[in-house]
Amino acid sequence: MPKQFIDQYGRILNYLRLSVTDRCNFRCYYCMPEEGIDFVDRKQLLSYEELQFLLEIFTEYGVNKLRITGGEPFVRRGLVEFLGRISQLDGLSEMAITTNGSLSFSQIDALADMGIRSINISLDSLDKKRFFEITRRDKFDEVFSAILYMIDRGFEVKLNAVIADNKNTQDILPFVELTKHHCVSVRFLEEMPFNGTGTFEVPTWNHVVIKKHVLSHYPTMRRLPDEANSTSVNYQIPGYKGTFGIIASYSRTFCGTCNRLRLSATGELRTCLYGAPALNLRDLLRSGANRDEVIQELQRAVCKKEKDGFEAESIVAQTPKKSMSFLGG
Ligand code: SAM
Ligand code: SF4
Repeated sequence: MPKQFIDQYGRILNYLRLSVTDRCNFRCYYCMPEEGIDFVDRKQLLSYEELQFLLEIFTEYGVNKLRITGGEPFVRRGLVEFLGRISQLDGLSEMAITTNGSLSFSQIDALADMGIRSINISLDSLDKKRFFEITRRDKFDEVFSAILYMIDRGFEVKLNAVIADNKNTQDILPFVELTKHHCVSVRFLEEMPFNGTGTFEVPTWNHVVIKKHVLSHYPTMRRLPDEANSTSVNYQIPGYKGTFGIIASYSRTFCGTCNRLRLSATGELRTCLYGAPALNLRDLLRSGANRDEVIQELQRAVCKKEKDGFEAESIVAQTPKKSMSFLGG
């Protein structure tokens, strides 16, 4: 029997999204309030040594895809060196990063050198003013030039845009047009209830509305074959270099094939973004648990992965005052 993490529905959980910090230099309205959130004390973060210990277990148990996220991963000191070390882990076949684009060209070069091929960058608008309104930071030029450099260096670049009424719906078509000359994949996301305030309105621009909107302007758009475990439904305009996708992140149409686990920077293991933590691995490690005990607890926790995001949310009972930056996006 191969060593694997398998849940009660027989899903093999081979994809870990690892948050390395809850801190961020941006203040995207859908993620946290302008004043930020109560960032945790650094001592509460899993150290790089603790992370490496846990990653060795995850990869031994079949996790072959890893995504580094946050908060903003590049605000944590020593990240590139840490990535260099874990990129050598046996069993890891894909390592990807999600960032807001706050990284230097030399950091991008270092990522390329260590074999990282896939980078997701949050970009909610192609308009400088709207970018500022959304992120509350005047960083459009910096982020966009990092994106162009990554494309140039041959990374598989995905741009994540959270679409919301009165914020950036006017950006949808320009984003599709961006795929004409650039080899990027733009993905339109529904807003989820993790803005750190505990308030939330169900998105009116959901996946159906977004698709209809694009289709009415690009009737020739064609659907691309689904990738295994993909959360996005992907399309291409004939003759365009890039592609675009729509992610029903709030409507949750893809849970049946979910293969994900999430580990927050403070050690909370979640089997669903919408659910409560199943286990705190930092506390377990710091209580002196040995390797076998950690594995046993992990197996117990992953097995209970919820059927879908609705079931997970119903257990939490009310809109949590959680920020995506803390949960690990
Ligand atoms: N700071 C990095 C970034 O922005 O790419 C990584 C962390 S961020 C939490 C990861 C992803 O979550 C981003 O693509 C962001 O757009 C998305 N995200 C954050 N809050 C969200 C929300 N309330 N609804 C939908 N997506 C959200
Ligand atoms: Fe920061 Fe990413 Fe959250 Fe924006 S979405 S505030 S960049 S963590």
